[in-house]
Amino acid sequence: MSTPVVIAIDAGTTGIRSRAVFADGRESISSYQEFTQYFPTPGWVEHDANEIWQAVHHTLSHVISRVSEPIAAIGITNQRETVVAWDKTTSKPYGRAIVWQDRRTAERCSQLAPQLDLVRATTGLVLDPYFSGSKMEWLLKHGNVPNNADLALGTIDSWIVWNLTQGSSFVTDVTNASRTMLFDITSMQWSNEMCAMFGVPEHALPRVVASSERVGVTAHTHSIPSGIPISGIAGDQQAALFGQACFNPGSSKNTYGTGSFVLMNVGTTCPSPSEGLLTTVAWKLGSDAPVYALEGAIFVTGSAIQWLRDGINIIDSAPEVGPLAESVPSTNGVVVVPAFTGLGSPWWDPYARGAVLGITRGTTRAHIARAVVESISYQTRDVVEAMSHAAGVTVTDMRVDGGAAIMNLLLQLQANQLGVSVMRPHELETTAMGAAYLAGLAEGVWPSLQSVTDAWKLDTVFTPQPTGTEAHDYMLWKRAVNRSLNWAQSR
Ligand code: ADP
Repeated sequence: MSTPVVIAIDAGTTGIRSRAVFADGRESISSYQEFTQYFPTPGWVEHDANEIWQAVHHTLSHVISRVSEPIAAIGITNQRETVVAWDKTTSKPYGRAIVWQDRRTAERCSQLAPQLDLVRATTGLVLDPYFSGSKMEWLLKHGNVPNNADLALGTIDSWIVWNLTQGSSFVTDVTNASRTMLFDITSMQWSNEMCAMFGVPEHALPRVVASSERVGVTAHTHSIPSGIPISGIAGDQQAALFGQACFNPGSSKNTYGTGSFVLMNVGTTCPSPSEGLLTTVAWKLGSDAPVYALEGAIFVTGSAIQWLRDGINIIDSAPEVGPLAESVPSTNGVVVVPAFTGLGSPWWDPYARGAVLGITRGTTRAHIARAVVESISYQTRDVVEAMSHAAGVTVTDMRVDGGAAIMNLLLQLQANQLGVSVMRPHELETTAMGAAYLAGLAEGVWPSLQSVTDAWKLDTVFTPQPTGTEAHDYMLWKRAVNRSLNWAQSR
């Protein structure tokens, strides 16, 4: 009999990739489609949920048509926190989805500040417009979304499963639920108190399921056959932690994508809130106890490289940034703070804005490019120091992935700043692999976590090679961050 295949649907912020992963490690087959980003006013970011579903359908059909092996399962990983509202009878979305980057509820979150301790203790999150709760409230209050029995309020995973099953399964997994600000991460249920705070009716929320269990099967649509089990769901960063085989408490990963997300496995006991960091559900395998993670969410890292390309046009393509930054030995005192949409961990200031400081007559585009690359390593250090400080855990090494992890200079600077080894695996698409493993474990395609650990292969390890300027450079960064805080509005 031929070995089975698992299909991962990686529903990212800018596009959908469906990818067939073979259990025997053969080269995978994949298909990608971008979708439109809508920026109706400054600070607002929206997606068309129908366009997302069409991209899922298109890429999934394409992969299925090229696979001759039996398909054991589908696993889904998705951009987190983004909210879709739809009618369960017609499956039509109400308006556009509000995307995680959207800042329209910043003021509302400021008003809720007296509730911060309750929010932290219940949900593990901080009061920031990033999370789903205030976005759902906005849709109900200002988005013409009716609070009736047919209303569905879900994240992108719920929307995809709803469509794949043609409305038979209305679910979300624990990792996605833990990003809504409506979920009690200790009892692992929707929180009445949080739902009341945001005026979100619990009947409109999906059933919460494990990250690795069968939650439904596909219904036949055009080129997608019926009966394929949907057996794994996880938010993108949790899927990456899983795909990096960070199964032991203390193991951590950093994904250098549009933003950067540092997650550390902290085991099966939910830790108390940590200053500047998020506590989140890492995964839940079937009926096992949930595993928790500490998370630092950095909003702008790879997208600062895109800004160099599209905003100030000092490079033509992202791969140019590494060589340009390496063409100078230092930034000559220039610091870039890429706080374009505020700052996330550990600062949590939606009113911070970007800054370029220390420019002199001798500053060139190479210094600016290097300062952007360095800013990525400093932001990661900010988060790792907060983790060590708050949780009392020391990061001993870090596994990395994401588009910008291709840059050797960045990873060497990172190792120098952190003083620990930075390990880049052979497989950089850890998010999709994590979703495939979660689904495949539930269906017996992979027998155990050990088989995932065995599949993880090291590509390059970057060991610290300090140049002696690290402490001074980091001090300059901290000074620059202080100047960018609370820039857009005084509170
Ligand atoms: P996401 O999943 O968030 O869309 P990716 O993991 O695909 O992001 O990473 C995309 C980011 O990686 C882009 O913002 C881009 O700036 C950066 N990037 C891609 N290729 C390179 C490269 N060769 N050198 C440096 N940065 C790169």
